[in-house]
Amino acid sequence: MKVYFDNAATTAIDMEVFEAMKPYMLEHFGNPSSIHSHGRQVRTAIERSRKKVADLLNAAPAEIFFTSGGTEADNTAIRCTVSDKGIKHIITSKIEHHAVLHTVEALEKRGIEVSYVDLNDKGQVNYDHLEELLKSKPNTLVTLMHANNEIGNLLELERVGEMCKEHDACFHSDTVQSMAHYTHDMRQLDLDFAVGSAHKFHGPKGIGFLYINHENKIHPFIHGGAQERNMRGGTENVYGIVGLAKAMEIAYAEMSSHRKHIEGLKTRMIEKLKSTIEGVSFNGVSDDLDQSLYTVLNVCLPPNDDNDMLLFNLDIEGVSASGGSACSSGSSIGSHVLAELNRDQNRGAIRFSFSKYNTLEEVDYAADKVAKLYQTETA
Ligand code: PLP
Repeated sequence: MKVYFDNAATTAIDMEVFEAMKPYMLEHFGNPSSIHSHGRQVRTAIERSRKKVADLLNAAPAEIFFTSGGTEADNTAIRCTVSDKGIKHIITSKIEHHAVLHTVEALEKRGIEVSYVDLNDKGQVNYDHLEELLKSKPNTLVTLMHANNEIGNLLELERVGEMCKEHDACFHSDTVQSMAHYTHDMRQLDLDFAVGSAHKFHGPKGIGFLYINHENKIHPFIHGGAQERNMRGGTENVYGIVGLAKAMEIAYAEMSSHRKHIEGLKTRMIEKLKSTIEGVSFNGVSDDLDQSLYTVLNVCLPPNDDNDMLLFNLDIEGVSASGGSACSSGSSIGSHVLAELNRDQNRGAIRFSFSKYNTLEEVDYAADKVAKLYQTETA
């Protein structure tokens, strides 16, 4: 049996999405900047896709900018806000994705002051500390992710948005893992910037978007042609854009049934592991369905000399999972997120991340393999 439980790294493309993209690979190949009919036809597809994404987010089409993915969107929001809005201080956390963390570190080297908000031992943000930081520093950008890709912790987006508004700070949230898995109403949230990446919700790789609230005026990150209303130079990834919009449309239409299905998988995995492995626990709050991303379960296995071999052995059994983010796939070593949690570093970590395509049989199979491998190794 082959089981794919690494959906936080990337998801399989939905066939319907692929079918929607195909005509833009084969027939409608014009450059959207061309004014002839071949170009105009493709331009229309892009603008239709932009409107679709905007409608789903209750945003205006002019607030959606297509990018090459989440990393570029995060970089654009953070770097351009700092340079264009006189930002002197950034508040972030130590468990952000590297798309944010490394961008912030690069800015720190150029003289921007950076504060890391306190986290509790489960990796949850200390909102009182955030408030203190916001009070003490003017000209601030807050960048805090909505859903952590490794442990699934959810941020209270509304609460942080209100705090930022009260203290006149800009708020960027890396929403890559929650986009199209939860609804985001941009007219209700006090968010300046949010991010989407199609390959996290059964769309194609290499395409994403940045939502920029209309009250923010920033300059482009990538200079070039006048594409994306002068905000992002470069010929558009037309079939990617069409695929992203289609994937998001499907995700929204089926969100509640997919969520129910995936929560069932996660609950089953928690129960099976608890009943077969003594001392098993879960990193962050990933076993709490209300406080964590429903697609992610980060398992904390009791100390064992061979814990690092667990993911490798699981792979041999046909189960693809990860120990942290994709860049550290196959090992929990080097996970900057797990390192921030108050946990015994000798314990093994496996991140299972689920999708609509997974089944209960797959959960049972993987849980049995973990139990078997673990018991064999501890025997
Ligand atoms: N932010 C988070 C939370 C992610 O999980 C990822 C991808 O793993 C990214 C950003 C980067 O997105 P992309 O792969 O589209 O550049």
